[in-house]
Amino acid sequence: MTLRVLRPFDPWNSPLCTCPFKYSLNPYTGCSFRCLYCYATAYIGVRDSTPKRGLIRDLLHDLRILPPGILVNLGTSSDPYPPEEERYTLTRRTLEVMVPLGVRILVTTKGTLVARDADLLARGNAAVTPTITMLDDSLARIVEPGAPPPSARLEALRILHSRGVPVGVRVDPIIPYVNDDPSEIDELVCRIAEAGAKFIVTSTYKARPDNLARMRKGLGDTGERLYRLYRDTGVKVRGYRYLPRRMRERLLRPVIEAARRCGLEYATCREGFQGREWFNAGSCDGSHLIPLRVKPRKPTGGSRDLRSWLGGAALDA
Ligand code: SF4
Repeated sequence: MTLRVLRPFDPWNSPLCTCPFKYSLNPYTGCSFRCLYCYATAYIGVRDSTPKRGLIRDLLHDLRILPPGILVNLGTSSDPYPPEEERYTLTRRTLEVMVPLGVRILVTTKGTLVARDADLLARGNAAVTPTITMLDDSLARIVEPGAPPPSARLEALRILHSRGVPVGVRVDPIIPYVNDDPSEIDELVCRIAEAGAKFIVTSTYKARPDNLARMRKGLGDTGERLYRLYRDTGVKVRGYRYLPRRMRERLLRPVIEAARRCGLEYATCREGFQGREWFNAGSCDGSHLIPLRVKPRKPTGGSRDLRSWLGGAALDA
């Protein structure tokens, strides 16, 4: 049977991806956060988040045909907590379906609304890995213009941790000339540790034609330098321009050193770096943080049962 909304996660066929096998679930298409460096815009376009119709019904369909206890990563190509979530509560409803079934849930987001769902997440087999790339709220307003400021994301992280939700952080991407200052990185990683995270994953910015054009346009002189750096030294890997390995190591070393100092587990993402120098965590995506709190099982019953189980939430929303 064909899956309707869950998709095997496959980051554009990257031979460098070390993620465990998992499914991705994106309740929205488009993304209102409009990060300049977004990798997904080549597929989802630059447009506001739009809820997927029939999502809950289709999710239940997929969960019926897959084995219980699968790993589902919310927000791999469109943030699950955009401002629109306040009105549609679509991501919350996916959690209401998945938590009682013991689905292993990993939430990746820049949205602070995730703290609203701490009650549900803390009851389930769930962990959250917010993305926080810098501490400077005004710089983040340029680079991640629609997303909540980093200070608010750190506060959401604190709330999740205090309510018992396991948390890690994606310090990703590290962008030359933008957020690569070693002392700022050190402070960022220490603040992340203070907020309760146990783990970080980091990665350098990989340029695609569309996101590099946005960076060039949006970051003034810095954007121009960045554009030239990737144009002149970048190496193509499956549609991305990677910086030479030595440069990438220089960019990520301060993140890893800060993680060690602050007692965090660490990993790198799609860099091809081997060994404990770069990776000592149980997974690269934070899925090892997910506890087993609910015994996995498949959904049962017809749509009437499911409607009551969902507390009357419309299945076709
Ligand atoms: S939050 Fe993620 S999906 Fe949304 S624009 Fe930023 S990078 Fe892209």
